[in-house]
Amino acid sequence: MDWNQRYTYNFPTIVRFGAGVIDELGPYLKDLGLSKPLIVSDKFLSELPFFKNITKDLNAKGLTASVYTGVSKNPIKSDVLSGVKAFHESNCDSIVGLGGGASMDVARAIAMKAHHPDNDLFDFDDATGGDKFVVNEIPHFVTVPTTSGTGSEVGRSTVIADDETHRKRVLFSPRAMASRVFADPVLSMELPAHVTAATGMDALTHNIEAYLSKGFSPLCDGVAIEGIKLVSESLEKATLSPDLESRSKMMMSALMGATSFQKGLGIVHSLAHPLSTVFDTHHGLANAVMLPYGLEFNKEVSAERFKFLEKIIGCNDLIQWVNYLNKRLGMPASLKEMELDSSKIDELSDLALADVCHLCNPKEVTLENFKSIYNKAFS
Ligand SMILES: [Zn+2]
Repeated sequence: MDWNQRYTYNFPTIVRFGAGVIDELGPYLKDLGLSKPLIVSDKFLSELPFFKNITKDLNAKGLTASVYTGVSKNPIKSDVLSGVKAFHESNCDSIVGLGGGASMDVARAIAMKAHHPDNDLFDFDDATGGDKFVVNEIPHFVTVPTTSGTGSEVGRSTVIADDETHRKRVLFSPRAMASRVFADPVLSMELPAHVTAATGMDALTHNIEAYLSKGFSPLCDGVAIEGIKLVSESLEKATLSPDLESRSKMMMSALMGATSFQKGLGIVHSLAHPLSTVFDTHHGLANAVMLPYGLEFNKEVSAERFKFLEKIIGCNDLIQWVNYLNKRLGMPASLKEMELDSSKIDELSDLALADVCHLCNPKEVTLENFKSIYNKAFS
């Protein structure tokens, strides 16, 4: 990959960002002639005062908002199918994914399936070229993030598991991207510290892995570097003594992470995904723990980029800085500390090798590499 080849870059999501932008959601939908949004969220969030205020405000502005809260922590197919049913039963004309990654993912899948009654949801699986089945109209789709981590608000794919086998499928379509993102940091103010920390480490991992990944994208690199700088300035504060500025910086950095990882991710996500599959570990927490190990693996081959990041962050050693940050945030330093079952190393390693993220890692990863890294993390 170099300056002598041809590339395509695409950053098309319209993002409305800033404290209070949620107030613009109602007028925005009305201007488009839409009046019956289906708000997709999880049960916990839907009972918080700010959520009730949002629906109240929409109704006061002359819209009829329906709420669907059947979103599991790790979304499954029936979450989506029940949501499609709710969409039609309430005669909705638009979909708002409001919440963390799971809510936005389910909302996106409902949007993909709503006007495709003859398709099975998993027809849209990216592994089998699923986007060619997304041919009918997609309801107007908007995202409203309330956590700062996955960056799913700007994504165009969604991960949904089979109810019985728990096999995760990645559904993809460029048309499943939100038409508008309302990123209002005020909505993230009620996030508890441990969620802020774990989701924030996911955002940091996205930005770092994107910057180190072997794709060629000066555009993504620039976004990722600024995303890393924002985390270094704000994650500790956003977790330990949050104010609107630190939470705003984290919301921006999450958005930047998901924008920059169009370039690719790397070994850390491949190490982290199996922990969620086998032990149900939170995705951000899994990344936080595995990030120093993945960086250690890439240290030599990415030496120059490490040096640049150390300058940006203002630290002497990138890995030590991540370890220090983890400690400040109350994150465990190893899988041993998490008291996970080390007899699963072979299974974890097989899953890690089958994961596609490491294909963009700056250095090739083998099954033996995965085994030795997991061994280290368990000792
Ligand atoms: Zn992630």
